[in-house]
Amino acid sequence: MSDTHHSDVLIIGAGMSGLMAASVLVAAGRRVTLLDKGRSVGGRLATRRIGAGRADHGAQFFTVRDPEFGAWVERWRDEGLVYVWSHGWSDGSLADAPPDGHPRYAVQGGMNRLAKHLAAQVEAQGAEILTDVRVTAVTPHGDGWRLIGDDGRNFIASALIMTAPAPQTLAMLDAGATPLTAEDRACLERIRYAPALCGLYVVEGEVHLPAPGAVQRPDADFTWIADNRRKGISPDATVITVHASGDWSAARYDAPDAELSEAFECALRPWLAADAWIAEEQIKRWRYAAPTVLHPERLLRVAAHAPLLIGGDAFGAPRVEGAALSGLAIGRAL
Ligand SMILES: Cc1cc2nc3c(=O)[nH]c(=O)nc-3n(C[C@H](O)[C@H](O)[C@H](O)COP(=O)(O)OP(=O)(O)OC[C@H]3O[C@@H](n4cnc5c(N)ncnc54)[C@H](O)[C@@H]3O)c2cc1C
Repeated sequence: MSDTHHSDVLIIGAGMSGLMAASVLVAAGRRVTLLDKGRSVGGRLATRRIGAGRADHGAQFFTVRDPEFGAWVERWRDEGLVYVWSHGWSDGSLADAPPDGHPRYAVQGGMNRLAKHLAAQVEAQGAEILTDVRVTAVTPHGDGWRLIGDDGRNFIASALIMTAPAPQTLAMLDAGATPLTAEDRACLERIRYAPALCGLYVVEGEVHLPAPGAVQRPDADFTWIADNRRKGISPDATVITVHASGDWSAARYDAPDAELSEAFECALRPWLAADAWIAEEQIKRWRYAAPTVLHPERLLRVAAHAPLLIGGDAFGAPRVEGAALSGLAIGRAL
């Protein structure tokens, strides 16, 4: 039995960019439905419970360069949602982080709370958010679009926004035989991402990471080690997040968890007290973690019979702010 759902605008992806696009559109009175394959909203704004604690395992913090995004961040700070975690990171060679003047923002309760907050706001303004729905195909339908969900449902709308990573976006378009001009296809095919492997560790005992509880080494195999308790998001347990570099992650993406964990633990061990021990651990794989080859504009308006706008953090700037600005630009463009 096929079940068909109708709306005005469909948005694939309820991460930062999809939610920001929805914010603009609901404020303009559009009837919006967001679809996400995740169990919850947020995408790479991801916070996970582990043991008695909590850890950010995707984006760790965000920065502000653009005044438009800055105005949103100020509102979130006024609401008590967002706080300044640091003004710089230690590379591990110094006692504490050398302040470089740029605030690094984090979210009370974990980065995913920001997505939940945006989701609640757009829902309060009439948007519908459906999670656990993987769109398998996007196909032209009359004057608009038809999306096919992995649960057999069909979704129909006059305009479509796609914010999944570019290879996933292309796969959905190709599966639905949506014709693309050579230029549009080349724009999407050009985009590249680095993967990221992430280890989460519940530690019993002292952890001696320099203030404010994190080390960042962009050129090392392990680029990031952070204490989520000192960050303020895991009051009941010490949970450490360790991220590996794009190159290291690409070379070992399919390695067994045990092998990865051994390497992560070696990177973590120097920061633990001699009698500290790891009580629980998890490995997380991000196939499309960080765009490395980007589309220069904040969105791609696909040449098609009906509005189709593509965005995300690979459109403009490869970070939370870039995703937000892409979403805002798409919302306005529609
Ligand atoms: C390990 C890691 C560390 C990071 N650290 C930082 C950092 O410290 N600072 C920073 O600024 N940025 C960081 N980032 C990048 C930041 O997280 C992203 O730039 C931003 O969150 C991307 O938002 P987005 O909306 O573009 O994409 P996403 O968050 O990926 O959202 C896309 C959504 O599309 C959904 N989707 C995909 N395919 C389908 C489908 N077929 N059907 C339905 N839904 C689908 C996904 O489930 C996802 O929710 C990090 C990312 C990772 C992975």
